[in-house]
Amino acid sequence: MDCLFCRIAAREIPATVVHETDTTLAFRDISPQAPTHVVVIAKRHDTDAVALAKAAPGVLDDLFLTAGEVAKAEGIDDSGYRLLFNTGPDAGQTVFHAHLHVLGGRPLGALA
Ligand code: 5GP
Repeated sequence: MDCLFCRIAAREIPATVVHETDTTLAFRDISPQAPTHVVVIAKRHDTDAVALAKAAPGVLDDLFLTAGEVAKAEGIDDSGYRLLFNTGPDAGQTVFHAHLHVLGGRPLGALA
């Protein structure tokens, strides 16, 4: 298994897990870009969000539901937060396993 996030999902590589469901795992980003920066992954492997949507749209829904639970637990559901999928190299995707960033805890600037 050469996928980093598959290895985190399999608990072969440690991560600070904040929420888990049957289909998703949420853990703190190793290089946080905001006071709350959690990565929500699908436990199944697909290279990006669009591939996941084609293969298992219900699991894509689960990513958003988990992100909402994370935002509530982090206390940022009222102030607001950003949900972000980087898709492909030009977008800055570095781990090619579908994942949703949850960013919040400070005002976030406009997207480029
Ligand atoms: P991407 O750039 O693909 O959208 O997001 C990948 C994210 O995974 C990055 O924000 C990066 O900091 C994070 N990341 C990379 N390696 C690890 C790791 O080993 N553990 C954790 N918790 N996050 C990681």
